[in-house]
Amino acid sequence: MPYSEAQSSPDLPAILGGNRIKNTPFGKERRYGDAELQELREALEQQTLFYVHGQKVRQLEEMFAEKNGVRFAIACNSGTAAIHAALIAGGISPGDEVITAPITDMGTVIPILYQGAIPIFADLDPQTITLSPEAVEAAITPRTRAVLAVHLWGNACDLDSLRALCDRHDLLLIEDCAQACGSHYKGCPVGTRGAIGCFSLNEFKQISCGDGGIILTDDEALATRLRLATDKAYNRQVTGALRQPAFLAGNYRMTELQGAVALAQLRKLDDIVERRRRWCGELNRRLRGLAGLTLPTPTNGCNPSWWNYPMQVVPDALGVDSDTFAAALRAEGLPVGAHYIGACVYAYPVFAEHSAFAHGEHPYARQKYRQGLCPEAERILRDIVMLSINEAYTEDDLDQTERAIRRVVGWYHAHQDRGS
Ligand SMILES: *Cc1c(COP(=O)(O)O)cnc(C)c1O
Repeated sequence: MPYSEAQSSPDLPAILGGNRIKNTPFGKERRYGDAELQELREALEQQTLFYVHGQKVRQLEEMFAEKNGVRFAIACNSGTAAIHAALIAGGISPGDEVITAPITDMGTVIPILYQGAIPIFADLDPQTITLSPEAVEAAITPRTRAVLAVHLWGNACDLDSLRALCDRHDLLLIEDCAQACGSHYKGCPVGTRGAIGCFSLNEFKQISCGDGGIILTDDEALATRLRLATDKAYNRQVTGALRQPAFLAGNYRMTELQGAVALAQLRKLDDIVERRRRWCGELNRRLRGLAGLTLPTPTNGCNPSWWNYPMQVVPDALGVDSDTFAAALRAEGLPVGAHYIGACVYAYPVFAEHSAFAHGEHPYARQKYRQGLCPEAERILRDIVMLSINEAYTEDDLDQTERAIRRVVGWYHAHQDRGS
């Protein structure tokens, strides 16, 4: 009976009968408060909620552009819409190929398919869990038009390398910053190295207005097309009769209500990011060197805004897989889950079975999507355990999280040879 001598040990994990380490709730704050209410009241008192006539969306755009040091920010109603508008503005058309990451939100790939374009998935770097520039380069064909770089978990892609290869091959670099609002790469905010940067303000991101999106560019011609791409290609500078759309675009407008809340949230961004950095950075320092666990590794030059805290189990070194590890951490009271999205995006039926549309020919039908396409990404999803975090987590939360992870890792590491 391997655990008998340890029955009263302080090291015995809660899942095996020990005392649970995290007994108090994690820090939590009211996310929306007086500042948001005040902005909402002002928005309503304008007696218009239309972005062209009100002030809130415009103020949000001006503040976001200024904060990021670029000339133009265009608000819209989701991160998915932001990416779609970027592809439209970039001229992505049926049959074009867009290279992107296999671990991401559907919001990254939905717009590619709606443009009639073909998502091509390139494998990830095992350490940083972001696009491998070598894999991206290997995926380029004469039909490639753009690279859609996903800054997963708030960690920036290797933007220097991606930028260089996009320049070399004359490709559009679009940054999906939906999980990385507030992250920096070599001193610059993410979303400013590519031609276009796309952000999400949905409920689960660093800052939120329920649902919303925002797009950055420094290029005036792109900015003009981005605005049109979020508003039915109606040119609001001219009167109705002259407003004759020249290309296809949806209604992706942000309302003044979203703009009002987003404005109040944007003022809190620096503080939110600062606190996430302190907490996650400290956890990373404290856990460094633990055998059997790969800690989140920021890309060289990146100061992440920490959407989540992703750990990778090394099953051979830890002695258990990510499911067992996650279950043990949950028993200690930590909010963790294994496998993130479960399978690479290309394994979803919409790709594997080419079932995006009920019938008819879509150019992506000629691309084979199957398990095994990106072995590193598949391995990452098998081994990943994600700790949910937010900026209100306290010093006590940090101490207890560290203790819980150390206890579980220590136990499995010490007992892996004794059978079970
Ligand atoms: C959230 C997210 C999106 C989509 O944003 P929505 O606002 O939900 O449409 C796109 N890409 C990534 C990486 C995301 O995390």
